[in-house]
Amino acid sequence: MNSISALERLARLEQRIEQACRAAGRARESVRLLAVSKTRSAAEIRARLVLGLDAFGENYVDEALAKQQQLSDAAIEWHFIGPVQSNKTRALAMHFDWVQSVDRDKIVRRLAEQRPSERAPLNVLLQVNIDNEPQKAGCSPDRIEALAERVARRPELRLRGLMAIPDPGHDAAGLRRAFASLKQLQQRLAADHAGVDTLSMGMTDDLEAAIAEGSTMVRIGTALFGPRPAR
Ligand SMILES: *Cc1c(COP(=O)(O)O)cnc(C)c1O
Repeated sequence: MNSISALERLARLEQRIEQACRAAGRARESVRLLAVSKTRSAAEIRARLVLGLDAFGENYVDEALAKQQQLSDAAIEWHFIGPVQSNKTRALAMHFDWVQSVDRDKIVRRLAEQRPSERAPLNVLLQVNIDNEPQKAGCSPDRIEALAERVARRPELRLRGLMAIPDPGHDAAGLRRAFASLKQLQQRLAADHAGVDTLSMGMTDDLEAAIAEGSTMVRIGTALFGPRPAR
């Protein structure tokens, strides 16, 4: 992985994000870029740090902790975006800045109890199962408000908004509808909870549609790092 191809990938991605913002009449600064570094090495992350990326998303706790140790000298904002197992919440509470995949009461309680008191509140996004897919992680849309209440009551946590991964089987119109309904859900949440400012939606293949519908954070792996090796 040389830094020239990393730079080219980032430049092409930036062009896509800028173009999508322009098309939507939005400022580039209204969309954050989260680099999804699952399966990537610490060296590959370093090659993006020098390009100015500073927020990285990980899906697997043990893999993430190993990389965090190797990168402990770097100022990185770490986001957890994978399914949360309750026996891993302590590691998340101790070593992450954001958890984007909170989807049930038990996880809220454990993260709050386990967040070290000397650390800033843990930023929390609620993962929404926006298409009500069976077997899929995420809270159903009709239970989001109740879950948000639980988070808002915990001073160790800071409710920031919603995250979702729409059904990959959508056609273009269905995808736009899913993103639009997430935006509506997020606006209702923001009306009830001060500090809700984040809507994490959009990945390599659908960032344009997500930005058109109001995403404030795109989570990008493939476009930044190339095709993922099999795990
Ligand atoms: C892997 C992953 C991404 C990034 O996907 P790409 O298509 O490689 O950009 C984003 N969000 C989540 C939750 C992921 O697991």
